[in-house]
Amino acid sequence: MAKHDIVRAGSPVLRDRAAEVPPEELGTKPLLSLVRTMVEAMRRAPGVGLAAPQIGVAKRVIVLEDAERLMAKLGPAERADRERAPFPLRVVVNPVLTVVDEAPRVFFEGCLSVPGWSALVSRAREVEVAGTDEHGAPVSWRVAGWPARILQHEVDHLDGTLYVDRMLTRTFSHNEEAAAHWLALPVTTVREKLRA
Ligand code: ZN
Repeated sequence: MAKHDIVRAGSPVLRDRAAEVPPEELGTKPLLSLVRTMVEAMRRAPGVGLAAPQIGVAKRVIVLEDAERLMAKLGPAERADRERAPFPLRVVVNPVLTVVDEAPRVFFEGCLSVPGWSALVSRAREVEVAGTDEHGAPVSWRVAGWPARILQHEVDHLDGTLYVDRMLTRTFSHNEEAAAHWLALPVTTVREKLRA
């Protein structure tokens, strides 16, 4: 699977509501194969999360993983600000998301289906997700900070929502421009300067 096999904004599958995975599909070869393909695509990109519609499959399956090498450019203060730390691979089938702490957290966010771009997006600080893994074992994860952001982003994909629907539109930036002008600044300063 090549990098471009991640479908991009404009593909109808990214705008549909993905279907629940029926119980009889849990643990089957096709579902395990789907999850394997998603994990490979996420790691190859590389990204910290992927939803099945992003590889053209309209099913409610998400994978998430964050690793030290993906946050190597962030200093200790930036990591603390974002509440970002590595976590091992998580697979959630039919995820149901509940907001635990709706306090808004605003940071730059991107999407493998909108490659090359990013924008400030407000997300709830803490959420809880319930569902199963690909074998049908119950999954329940309550988490704050960056993983909570990833979860909200991926579950949005299953409902046909992209971060561009939620972004502070005036902060929409090419990644090179974001790196050159905005990423090093406090978010409050970025919002002042961009009037966002
Ligand atoms: Zn995305």
